[in-house]
Amino acid sequence: MLERDIEKVLVSAEEIKEIEIRLGKVLTADYKDKFPLVIGLLKGCVPFMGELITKMDIQMQVGFMDVSSYHGGIASSGDVKIEKDLGIAVGGRHIIIAEDIVDTGKTISVIMDLLMYRGAASVEVVTLLDKPAGRVVDLHPKYIGTTIPKEFVVGYGLDYEEKYRNLPYVGVLKPEIYIK
Ligand code: 5GP
Repeated sequence: MLERDIEKVLVSAEEIKEIEIRLGKVLTADYKDKFPLVIGLLKGCVPFMGELITKMDIQMQVGFMDVSSYHGGIASSGDVKIEKDLGIAVGGRHIIIAEDIVDTGKTISVIMDLLMYRGAASVEVVTLLDKPAGRVVDLHPKYIGTTIPKEFVVGYGLDYEEKYRNLPYVGVLKPEIYIK
């Protein structure tokens, strides 16, 4: 049913699974003995982070922050607002921020600065999707699932007006869905 609204699939469910396994192995090696704190940015992180952490064979903790930047539309407002804070002390901790997508990079760079300011030992980003053509700040996520062109995508956590997060793949909506 949801498939009817999708113009094309950009990253298939199979590709996403391969990405999670690959990144899980890399993070397992890089964070062995570091007891990382994996922080997900709600709500987009949910499917990716949920699967990724099951591919990391090390002791870790998880936490969540709710940060809004898009406010339901398809263009970035540039505003970053913390709706729900972490509630875990980050002093001396090695942090991995799990993201669905890095576009302008504003959201992540604000959160990275905040966590460093709070005393984290290190902060890195793992993102399912990287959209480097949209970047307006100097930010290079260390762990990238795959790079996509400058298109508005939905699925696997990514929404359009809070819908389509539950698609098992990442795709582009048919124009008639958002051109009303
Ligand atoms: P940034 O601050 O890097 O511009 O944006 C990060 C946030 O914007 C993402 O976590 C996501 O919520 C939203 N975003 C950026 N690009 C897209 C996109 O192509 N599709 C959707 N659905 N959200 C996006």
